[in-house]
Amino acid sequence: MSAPILELKSVSRVYGGVRAVNNVSLSFHPGEIVGLIGPNGAGKTTLVNLISGFVSVTSGEVIYNGKSLSGSKPHTIARGGIARTFQIVQPFAEMTVLENVMAGALYAANCSLEEARELAWESLKFTKLDRFADSPAAQLALANRKRLELAKSLAMRPRILMLDEVNAGLNTSEIDHAIGMIRQIAARGITIIVIEHLMRVVRELAPRAVVLHHGAVVCSGPTDDVFNDPLVIEAYLGSKYAKRLAEEAQAA
Ligand code: ATP
Repeated sequence: MSAPILELKSVSRVYGGVRAVNNVSLSFHPGEIVGLIGPNGAGKTTLVNLISGFVSVTSGEVIYNGKSLSGSKPHTIARGGIARTFQIVQPFAEMTVLENVMAGALYAANCSLEEARELAWESLKFTKLDRFADSPAAQLALANRKRLELAKSLAMRPRILMLDEVNAGLNTSEIDHAIGMIRQIAARGITIIVIEHLMRVVRELAPRAVVLHHGAVVCSGPTDDVFNDPLVIEAYLGSKYAKRLAEEAQAA
């Protein structure tokens, strides 16, 4: 296997008495899709915030492409090739869809206005949002707002893309479409970390899954093994997940 593009070495983040992320060590390889799962409050978003530099580590180190990200600002990390979406989608409502995506490109891609426009168009076509290019972002329905998040982060020309619940609230066909897009992105060699509460999405997309619980990695391995481990499901993910898995299996 190729050398890891991203390594977390004993990474922790403490808020007061809460260990939001607790001594996490993980490696990610180019082009792989990894599912990051765990109950509410497990530390998933905090981990994404640590990797993208939105919060600093309390201890440990994030190594990207062989170099430590310690002390790097979010825009520097984004320019280096690590992009993320946000769980709560908040586009610049008054700006057009095209302008929103251009803003992403300008934030991270270190390019001219013209290049940003080109990158943005490419992303909009890929996510099939090009027909909304001139509409104010506020007019987009939820599924398209989620796609806009994806388009914006793609325009940053990432090497690592962290998707924080990009499928939440979408219907089955919208999810199928999103799964197809995410697979195509990974096929370009981009590493994808998918935070998802929808087990189907993790199962279909990610060959490997990591389970977080109280900030710590409690299980990591082939996704099918993780999901077939009753101990993991009951003890760490809870009965809600067990019920959802059963429902998803029935619907399949
Ligand atoms: P969800 O699935 O609900 O999004 P999560 O797994 O992403 O949850 P986090 O949002 O990372 O979990 O939260 C992990 C823990 O850290 C929680 O106990 C949360 O309350 C705490 N936490 C996160 N951010 C902060 C903060 N800025 N200040 C204080 N506590 C925080």
